[in-house]
Amino acid sequence: GFKCGIVGLPNVGKSTLFNALTQTAAAQAANYPFCTIEPNVGDVAVPDARLDSLAGIAASAQIIPTRLTFVDIAGLVRGASKGEGLGNQFLANIRECDAIAHVVRCFEDGDVTHVEGRIDPLADIETVETELMLADLESLEKRVVALEKKARGADKEAKEQLDLIQRALVLLREGQPARLVELKPEEERSFRLLGLLSAKPVLYVCNVEEASAHDGNTQSAKVFERAAAEGAKAVVVSAKIESEIAVLPADEQRDYLEAIELDEPGLNRVIRAGYELLGLVTYFTVGPKEARAWTITRGTRAPQAAGVIHTDFEKGFIRAETIAYDDYVGLKGEAGARDAGKLRLEGKDYVVADGDVLHFRFAN
Ligand code: GDP
Repeated sequence: GFKCGIVGLPNVGKSTLFNALTQTAAAQAANYPFCTIEPNVGDVAVPDARLDSLAGIAASAQIIPTRLTFVDIAGLVRGASKGEGLGNQFLANIRECDAIAHVVRCFEDGDVTHVEGRIDPLADIETVETELMLADLESLEKRVVALEKKARGADKEAKEQLDLIQRALVLLREGQPARLVELKPEEERSFRLLGLLSAKPVLYVCNVEEASAHDGNTQSAKVFERAAAEGAKAVVVSAKIESEIAVLPADEQRDYLEAIELDEPGLNRVIRAGYELLGLVTYFTVGPKEARAWTITRGTRAPQAAGVIHTDFEKGFIRAETIAYDDYVGLKGEAGARDAGKLRLEGKDYVVADGDVLHFRFAN
């Protein structure tokens, strides 16, 4: 599965957010199977109204959303790359994640100590990014010496790796994150394998006070400005409100949200933004037994998409009966779509689109 690591300085609300994410009624209801893998790792249902629509049309007995894993990564403080705080453990934890949800404190509260003694989300972001960049700098500089030796011979792979590393080092030495390295498509895989922390896509989660849960505040506005400038994403959330909403039954949750003028829990936006950040899209399988959402990376072809359900589906793939989401809903289900000529037979080169309703044909 895909993992999103929650990072940030101490006392910014990481654990509050993580607990809310993993305690929501949606995450715990019987038809939204939920499990806590470890105390700080949780699978979260990805909210998707399309799945409910499909299940309604097909009268599916069960609804099974797709899921995203969140990891609460504690221990990031100034000097962490030099072993302060929890030392290097958190670096290893971040390395295993596909993307980073960076929680920044935008709320004022005299009772909650700020680790640096002031509310300044942009400075906090710099502190965390600096630690990630220092860790990358150190790990790359260690690798260069050995690679240079190899690259002097005829080792083509070593030469390519060394070239990528040197381009990353140029940026890191200027205090720029490795995610700004410009890559050709064929270099992307090798670059990912370098496992650089500052190359991971980032979502800023602005934790604001209750009164600002709807529109954010001046602090979160600064974070949004920064995110726009770096092509990153940002969301506003009040971790405190979310932790209160998360434990309410569904009907009370609706009343509460209405009272504070929110359409849906802020967590939904966090989950969806994390999903988008990872470049993930969803396809559906729909029948009377269940309506189910499945996760693939954008650009995945039909056989590999089938492989997410079962490896046999991929090995014996013949074709994918495909109905676009809008057609399925507009024509009120499979029969209607078929009659209207909107059920397509797609082969092994078909790139699955977000929202496709698929039925795989395969040979054993
Ligand atoms: P972490 O160290 O980043 O995991 O932070 P915690 O989630 O443990 O939160 C630290 C403290 O800040 C706790 O006392 C929380 O109750 C409090 N806190 C978290 N989010 C909010 C918020 O949105 N508003 C206020 N006022 N306090 C918060």
